[in-house]
Formats: sequence, structure tokens, C-alpha cells
Amino acid sequence: MSELHRFIFEGFPVRGMLVRLTDSWQEVLRRREAADDSFGVPVRVLMGEMAAAATLMQANIKFSGSLILQVFGDGPVKLAVAQVQPDLAFRVTAKVVGEVRPGDRLEAMLNAGGQGRCSITLDPKDRHPGQQPYTGIVPLHGDAREPLQQLSEVLEHYMLQSEQLDTKLILAADDKVAAGLLIQRLPVQGAGNIGGSSASQRNEDEIGVNEAYNRIAHLAATLTRDELLGLDVNTVLRRLFWEEPLRRFEPQTGANGPRFACTCSREHVGNMLRSLGREEVDGIVAEQSRAEVGCDFCGLKYHFDSVDVGGLFTPVTDQMPGSSSIN
Ligand SMILES: [Zn+2]
Repeated sequence: MSELHRFIFEGFPVRGMLVRLTDSWQEVLRRREAADDSFGVPVRVLMGEMAAAATLMQANIKFSGSLILQVFGDGPVKLAVAQVQPDLAFRVTAKVVGEVRPGDRLEAMLNAGGQGRCSITLDPKDRHPGQQPYTGIVPLHGDAREPLQQLSEVLEHYMLQSEQLDTKLILAADDKVAAGLLIQRLPVQGAGNIGGSSASQRNEDEIGVNEAYNRIAHLAATLTRDELLGLDVNTVLRRLFWEEPLRRFEPQTGANGPRFACTCSREHVGNMLRSLGREEVDGIVAEQSRAEVGCDFCGLKYHFDSVDVGGLFTPVTDQMPGSSSIN
């Protein structure tokens, strides 16, 4: 079963999390295959790593709304999206136009022309009309403009830029498991006493120089991809941190843990069709007898025939009352 583990290093300003998506990740791939739309290995790895990373990032913040991790590419992969709800329900998809070759990495897939971008959006649950969700964006290259080849490097860069926090991220995925390990330096506390600006200044001063964080991140970096995918959580944590004062919290699994769930609905699809305009949608229905819209995340297909389309474009006030009020 998919699981999320949280832990701290007692006495040190360092915390960590480890996620393993198993059944939930396999369901994503199974649905994709059922929709006759499976991806090549490098894209599947990217999607798995994005699902694991987005789950870690959502679990790492106190925020009531969905976290959307997106990579926009100028190579054969145009877009990859992972979305995670506060209860750790996640969904992930990608849009590929063109050929991804075996062994392709981030640059070849998404950053062929140097225009690739990674964005993280926090979309509040009860956003009032006109309110924009918060979005942070980083390029897919490092400070010296060197192209980055791993999603983990892009996200470490993002965390440092947006939150001034040192972060070590190890990600891996195959067709059975999508997993991630996150080690992060905790922000300097005590803003109430000493004033926010000086706390944040102290926080920036700590970047890269906190000894405990550097030691623990270094240990984490020795974890191989195969170990992360193949070993159970207890073994991974014991092997890496057996000399460290690790304190673990109750793991989140099952209904409290990460799991696949899609938020698509007939209503959303209807709104999307409405935004295309009546003429356009009527044209599709005239040509194909109905409009079919498939969800890229879960593979569900929604159908709208001419009667449904008529309903979509009729103002609510003009519609016949529902059957319950006729009786
Ligand atoms: Zn869906």
C-alpha cells in the first residue's frame, strides 16, 4: 500500500519525509494503458517522480488547497502535471507530442531549446472569485545556466529560491513504485521574539552552512535509485541514518495516505465545452453524433449528445424544472 513517513532528527533543525507510491501509482499506469495511451519509459519515470515529489511538497506545507506541480517543455514533452490534494489524493498526467527516445533525460524531453519551465501552484480550497492562486516558477537550468537533467535538482533549486531552505530530494520511479526522500533544513524559529526580518536574515545566513543539515543531506545523497525503489522504508532509514537521532511519526497509509483520485466531473467538462462556444460544440456533435471528452488524468470518457449540448447552452432560468418538482 502507498505510504508517507515523516521524521525529524532530534536536537537538529532538520526534518525528513519518505513517500512510496505503489498500488496508487500502478493504478495510474493501468488506467493510462486501458485508455490506450501509455507513455514511453522516460515519460513514465518523469510522471512517477512528479507524483512522488508533489506528494512530498504537499505534505511539507500547511495549506488548505491543492498543490500543482507542472513542467512545461519545448521538447517532445509539452507538459507534465501532478496535482495533490491536502488529504494526499493525487493525479498525474503528461502531454507528449513527438518522439521520446529510450534514455532521454530532462533536457532532451523538456528543455531542448532551453525554454523549459517548472511551476508550483498553490490553489486555495475556497478561492474567492478574482483571487489568483500563488505560482512560483523556476527554469530547468542551474545558476550557471547549465541544463539540469533531473527533476530533483530543479525542485531543490525551487525550494532554495522560494523558501530559502536547503533541501535534498531523491526521486525514483519504475512501473511498480514511485518514491521520494526529502531532507530539509527547518527554518529558524522565534520570529515572535526577535522580529520577522531578523529571523529571515538569520535563516538566509544558514543556507548551505548548517553542519547537521549538511551531514544528514550527505547521507541521504548516498541512497541509490534502486535502493529507494526496492527496499522497505525501515531498511532505508536504518541504513542511511543509523547513527542519527531519528524520531519517526505514525506513517500515513490507506485512507490517510497518498492515493490516486481524480477530481474530474461531468460539470467541469460541461463548463469546458461551454467555453468553446455553441457553434463549435454543435459542429462536433453534427460530425460525430456526440462530443466525447476523455479525462487525461483518469481515462474516464464523458459523452454529450445533442440534447445534452442543448442543455449546456440554455440559461438555467429557461430550463424545465427537475423531475422532483414535477411530481
Ligand atoms: Zn478524471
